[in-house]
Amino acid sequence: MKNKNTDPMQGHRARKRFGQNFLEDQGIINAIVRSIGPKAADNLVEIGPGKGAITAQLIESCPSMQVVELDRDLIPILLAQFAIYNDFRIHQTDALKFDFGQLATPERPLRVVGNLPYNISTPLIFHLLSFGELIADMHFMLQKEVVLRLAAGPGDKNYGRLSVMTQYVCQVENLFEVPPECFNPRPKVDSAIVRLTPYRTQPFVAAHPDKLAKLVKTAFAQRRKTLRNNLKNLDEELDLEALDIDLTRRAESLSLEEYVNLSNTLWP
Ligand code: SAH
Repeated sequence: MKNKNTDPMQGHRARKRFGQNFLEDQGIINAIVRSIGPKAADNLVEIGPGKGAITAQLIESCPSMQVVELDRDLIPILLAQFAIYNDFRIHQTDALKFDFGQLATPERPLRVVGNLPYNISTPLIFHLLSFGELIADMHFMLQKEVVLRLAAGPGDKNYGRLSVMTQYVCQVENLFEVPPECFNPRPKVDSAIVRLTPYRTQPFVAAHPDKLAKLVKTAFAQRRKTLRNNLKNLDEELDLEALDIDLTRRAESLSLEEYVNLSNTLWP
């Protein structure tokens, strides 16, 4: 009774280690592809295509799409399924280490799609954002909690460092939820689709983005504490009392604009 999880049609057993939850609900797959709106001329790359559930729909509109898949046992399945597409390319590697820059130019920025393993989702988003103008947009299936955090604004209990630092560089849209029943095997958590669109022109610009990152990290270190109590740990010679901001406020009440202004006042 070995391999009792094996799908006889595909001969591949889902691996926990690779965060494999394969989408099976055709209605949801259609909804995802509709919100992406793939076009033939797009420079489209899917991360973690698995057995090709989303790929099969995307490739009909965009035959030159590429995929990045870590699990080498899935490669023959993908090759067989998409053999008729001459331009289809598979990169068998870890997306966290992959140089996405090699696939794109500023004139042909990437459109990225992925139903991602939840454990790598935030590092992968930051890895992709590091390619800047080479990314046109990204559509991800993520754990619902993560999407709520990415999209949250001031005052929301999900608002935090991830929200501020992501919204600093992209527009974030929480598109729709996807329940566990849509997958096989079923994940233990709810999922949601998010669209991230890096700004061509950022609405608020920090003179020193590394300082902004440090400020936001320090401000949110202890959510219950006031700005004064958190920011005194910035361990720099800064006159906080001279700032034009109420230091009894909490980190979760400040907007992105306020964080950027604060950063630019402290580190012009
Ligand atoms: N997109 C498919 C599969 C989702 S499961 C579907 O919706 O059905 C997640 C996929 O990501 C699996 O195929 C898994 O092998 C792949 N994967 C996991 N870690 C990865 C990594 N670091 N880089 C690239 N692919 C990865």
